[in-house]
Amino acid sequence: MSSLQTKLQASDHGNVAASDVNGTQHGVLAHTAWAFLPVLVVNLILITSAGIDRAPWWVVFPVPFAAICICGHQYWNLRRHNRTGLTAEEQRQVLQTQTWRSAGTAAVVSAWGFAMCVYAPDMAHFFAAVAGFTAIGSATYVAYLQLPMRLIFIAVATSLLALALATQDYLSFIIAFCFATNALLLELYLSTHYRTFGNVVSQHVEAQSKYQDSKRAQAEILSIANTDDLTGVMNRRGFLSEVNALIAERSTSGEVFALGVIDLDGFKPVNDCFGHAAGDRVLIEVARRLSAHVGERGALARLGGDEFALLILHPENKDAVLAEGRAAIRALSAPIEFNGQVAQVSASCGFALYPEAGTTAATLLEHADEALYAVKDERRSAPAIYDGRNATAVVRRATIQQRLRRAMGTAEIYLEYQPIVCTETGRLLCYEALARWKDPEIGQVSPGEFIPIAENCGVMGELSRHLLREALVTATTWPSHVGVSFNVSPTSFADNTLALTIIGCLDAAGLSPSRLTIEITESAFASDHERVCEVLDLLRHVGIRVAMDDFGVGYSSFANLDRLPVDILKLDRSFIADVSADTRRQHIVAGIVEMCHKLKLTCVAEGIEDVAQLDFITKIGCNAVQGYLLGRPARPAALTHEIEPTMARARA
Ligand code: C2E
Ligand code: MG
Ligand code: MG
Repeated sequence: MSSLQTKLQASDHGNVAASDVNGTQHGVLAHTAWAFLPVLVVNLILITSAGIDRAPWWVVFPVPFAAICICGHQYWNLRRHNRTGLTAEEQRQVLQTQTWRSAGTAAVVSAWGFAMCVYAPDMAHFFAAVAGFTAIGSATYVAYLQLPMRLIFIAVATSLLALALATQDYLSFIIAFCFATNALLLELYLSTHYRTFGNVVSQHVEAQSKYQDSKRAQAEILSIANTDDLTGVMNRRGFLSEVNALIAERSTSGEVFALGVIDLDGFKPVNDCFGHAAGDRVLIEVARRLSAHVGERGALARLGGDEFALLILHPENKDAVLAEGRAAIRALSAPIEFNGQVAQVSASCGFALYPEAGTTAATLLEHADEALYAVKDERRSAPAIYDGRNATAVVRRATIQQRLRRAMGTAEIYLEYQPIVCTETGRLLCYEALARWKDPEIGQVSPGEFIPIAENCGVMGELSRHLLREALVTATTWPSHVGVSFNVSPTSFADNTLALTIIGCLDAAGLSPSRLTIEITESAFASDHERVCEVLDLLRHVGIRVAMDDFGVGYSSFANLDRLPVDILKLDRSFIADVSADTRRQHIVAGIVEMCHKLKLTCVAEGIEDVAQLDFITKIGCNAVQGYLLGRPARPAALTHEIEPTMARARA
């Protein structure tokens, strides 16, 4: 019994649920109890019938009656346990009770048989033989429980020996001897050939433990396979299986959930400028912020690179989904600090709703991607929901991407030049070089459309070099006081050789650095402020001027303006569009122009389309203007360089 207890306890310590071993144990227990019942009933009836005429009723009936009741009760008890299941401790108690009850029953029945012999000495041999058979029969059935079996043997053998000694009868000695030897042989045989109950349990526990171990290992492997190493959130594989499981769960109810794809803008420069370790830190922080944002309302995954996906399990409606997207984007817009540096990323987010946008994980992901690219194309850091129209945008985007690669370095991509004019003198200061692309199949594509695609598919550097060479060579044909203003994409700052490339191109074209202005947007500073400043300082050091383009849109930071290495501030045309009619706008624009004066920056107003705008801008002291009123972007052959008459005409 003690070894059994140890094994049962061991099964607990081995973290194997006790209920796992219940099946086997109950089977054996119920079988054992069932064995007692018929054997005892038959044998007790035999003894009772033999003693019924010879002994008083209170000797004949109570013992067999009690024995049958005890065994019957035990049997039904075990049947009940078999159905309800027992804990390891309960099983241990049942076994203990059963052991002592069996031994007690055997001892009482033996003593009872002995008492019967007193009343019916002529039947003593019969009683002894039946007791022996009963004991051997019972012992065979309780072979799984060694201790009860031995106790039964000892109780019956002792009784038979006592009977033989009391009667000094030769036949009784023979019966006692035969029983003892047979019991001994049986015990030897059973203990060798039968597995004890303890062994059954321990083997079962061992099997269960191995099963649990393999299940644990399986779960661990699965979790590793489904987790992103870097951020610890789910990876693409885990996310897809999660979404598939959710779809299976909701297939009947059709309950809506939203699948979102988030793409970081401005992550690549972080990686390129600060190295991969810094990029990793940023991704970890992004995952942390998004996880904190999603919380219990959904799940987060990193699909790869700087692309994340999220699930919103119970969105109330489409507005709620968009609100979630906006909140996630906001969470990412705060600066990310690492190793004393600061990086700033922004994000775009596309959603697809189940079941409206698809009923498989792959379709939902594809459609969320389409919605994402639609907003990215619009250069918005905003969320969007797939509505079927995004598909056309994605197809166009893919076509442009493919055609653009083919068009690189060909005459399909060329420059037009738009004049920038001094408001005071009316003289032409420079031309802004603006990229144009006319594809033979898809026709004219605006730079607003193909430049972001070129940036995203990694061809912007090559495109930019090609255009810069062309612009500089063209500028050499202009009067010496006319400069060229060239737009440099924020992603170009990821290229460590940017400054050298620009200076090299100037050198090759033989153009003075003072005739070149490079235009950058504020987003160029978002990734690696210090490094971008170093590049710009270097360019300014050789005489190139730097203009901050599109000032006033995006993340305009007045606070930093005095510390940025720029010479010119180009006021975005959105400020100019309604400046004549809107007095509040007039105050803002006048304020910005005044600030430029104080910071010794040249201020250029973009998008001047009418005389009222020109007059207002001139009146508030803006240094230069650019716009359709003064001249639309044109091919080099169409440029006259004579802008003064135009200015005069405009003002007349
Ligand atoms: P941007 O650098 O701000 O260029 C000015 C944009 O305003 C040009 O649009 C120009 O055609 C337009 N514009 C000028 N005057 C007026 C006006 O009076 N009214 C209106 N409505 N628009 C006016 P465009 O050529 O479509 O270029 C759009 C943007 O594409 C540019 O904005 C610039 O950010 C980018 N881009 C163009 N060429 C290049 C390039 O070679 N490299 C880079 N990185 N970006 C370029
Ligand atoms: Mg520009
Ligand atoms: Mg601009």
